Amino acid sequence: MARVTRAVMVRSVKLPRKVFRLLVELEGMYHNMVEQLVMYAIRNNIGSFTRLKAIKYHEMRKHYPRLPSHYVYTACQDAATRAKSFLRLKRLGLAERDYPEVMRVSIWLDDHLWRLDGYTMVRIATHKGWITVELEPHKQYWKYINRGWKLASEAKVKLDKRDRRLIVHLTFIKVVGEYKPEGYLPVDVNENNVTILVDGIAYLFETSTEKLVLGYYYRRKFIQERYDKLYGVKSRVKRKVVRKLKEREKKNDIRWKVANIIVRVAHGKQYAIVLEKLGKKVANNMIKRVRDGWLRHRIFQASFRGIQRAIEEKAREYGVPVIYVDPRNTSRLCPVHGAPIVYSNGSRIGRCSRGGELWHRDVVATWNLLLRAPRGDGSHALSPAGLARVDGSPVPLGSTATHDPTGIPKSLWTRWKSLPLTQYATILNRMKR
Ligand SMILES: [Zn+2]
Repeated sequence: MARVTRAVMVRSVKLPRKVFRLLVELEGMYHNMVEQLVMYAIRNNIGSFTRLKAIKYHEMRKHYPRLPSHYVYTACQDAATRAKSFLRLKRLGLAERDYPEVMRVSIWLDDHLWRLDGYTMVRIATHKGWITVELEPHKQYWKYINRGWKLASEAKVKLDKRDRRLIVHLTFIKVVGEYKPEGYLPVDVNENNVTILVDGIAYLFETSTEKLVLGYYYRRKFIQERYDKLYGVKSRVKRKVVRKLKEREKKNDIRWKVANIIVRVAHGKQYAIVLEKLGKKVANNMIKRVRDGWLRHRIFQASFRGIQRAIEEKAREYGVPVIYVDPRNTSRLCPVHGAPIVYSNGSRIGRCSRGGELWHRDVVATWNLLLRAPRGDGSHALSPAGLARVDGSPVPLGSTATHDPTGIPKSLWTRWKSLPLTQYATILNRMKR
């Protein structure tokens, strides 16, 4: 069983002055409490919530008698968290001051201090009784509600003083159990594509991550240089433009899109996803021609580790099991004959040195990942003998189609939510033959 959590932020409607003033008072008291508690905790070297609460509870209750008692709990939690991380910095010699500054606060709420009223109202306990605040739920919020996610009992609220709104930080939780896999879906992540093998058919998703990352990098650099010259290094305009670019970068994040498709296919078929244990890719040094170390790191993250991580996280959400296998030589050995495949310089198509058949590099990798996936009983997902009968004819000798991946351009697949049904139909037809 895995516990999956998602943070969601919801704003309230613009609040009446009277209600907002009440919240400002509440925030003020909470702020004071946290400040005092942090000071005390640092002075006495306390990083534990239970200890801090045990020592300070009664005193705080006396100072703030009208405040619901659980605010002392949450303020202690808040303060202990701040104190703990500050004490750590201090120990490491990294603290710049003697005490941490409590600048802006979110008010921490536990289950005694707030509740959802219906789905669009939130009730909050204050020093003047309960108040009700109307929310402005958005699409994402409804998605979690409708898909059966549960709300955590803790929440945090912040005041937007300029807009007279409350910003509510909610946490959604889902507990998902993994199913027992009925098959395997190997995924080979490469620099510029992700290849999967679904029931003997390989799909190659073009990602061109390198180009994408480089593109954003140079655009950001260009903006920076230009705006620095025009408006100075710390200009507001530049920050705004860079932020816009970042948003676009995030929105176009192909990692989540490809992870979504793969996990949905696996879930639909109740398969386990087979990934390579990372390590080989680093050694491969595929992106060594990029000089800038940070940039190389970014490309690597975006194309390998990042995609794997996105798949892992999505898989957890859907209860899809993930299996890791040794990635050594996955694209170098023929999955049928176990003999080396010879690639003539730079080509992605190679010839098996024993059988003489042709293989696509990324497809070979997926077959080998599949072969290496261990089953629950300790045996392997497929034996090379079984492989030869996957679609009724020896693979890949019988047909040239099977070892050629169905290449899917980015412009097409990024609009998909899963593999389209027509693709499934093709697979089924091929399987029947
Ligand atoms: Zn072979």
